[in-house]
Amino acid sequence: MNTFDEADLKMYFYENRLKTYEGWPFNEDCTCTPENMARVGFIHTPSENSPDIAMCFFCLKELEGWEPEDDPEKEHKSHSPSCHFIALKKKVEELTVEEFLHLEKEKLKFMIKKKGNEAIAKFEEAAKQKNTNIIKTALGEE
Ligand SMILES: [Zn+2]
Repeated sequence: MNTFDEADLKMYFYENRLKTYEGWPFNEDCTCTPENMARVGFIHTPSENSPDIAMCFFCLKELEGWEPEDDPEKEHKSHSPSCHFIALKKKVEELTVEEFLHLEKEKLKFMIKKKGNEAIAKFEEAAKQKNTNIIKTALGEE
C-alpha cells in the first residue's frame, strides 16, 4: 500500500467519508446515521456478510454489530482511546501544516502497527501449520 497516496489523505475530509455510506443500514430514527459516523472519522467498509462494518480511517479500528442507538463518538472513544483523530480539538482544515504532518505521522504508526500485527498473525498461522505437519510426520500419520 502506498501510504501517501491521495485516496489515503482524502479520508481526512468529512465529505469523502460520508460518500462511503452507500447501503449503510441505519439512516433514520437512530444515532449512528452516516452523518454522525462520518463526523467522528468512520468510513463504511462493508463485507459480503456484514453490511455494517465501519472503520476509523485514522486508527483503523473496525467496529461492527451497530445498534440504532449507538453513539458513534462514544463507541469510537471507548474502543480506541488512543486515536488522535477523535481527540482532535480543531477541524482538519484549521490545522497548521506542522500539526497536520504530526497527525499524519501518528496515523502512519497505526497503519504500521496493523500491518505488523497482520504479518505476525500470518507467520504464526504458518508456523502452527508447519508444526502440525511435523507432529503428524513424527506420528507416522503422513
Ligand atoms: Zn480512530
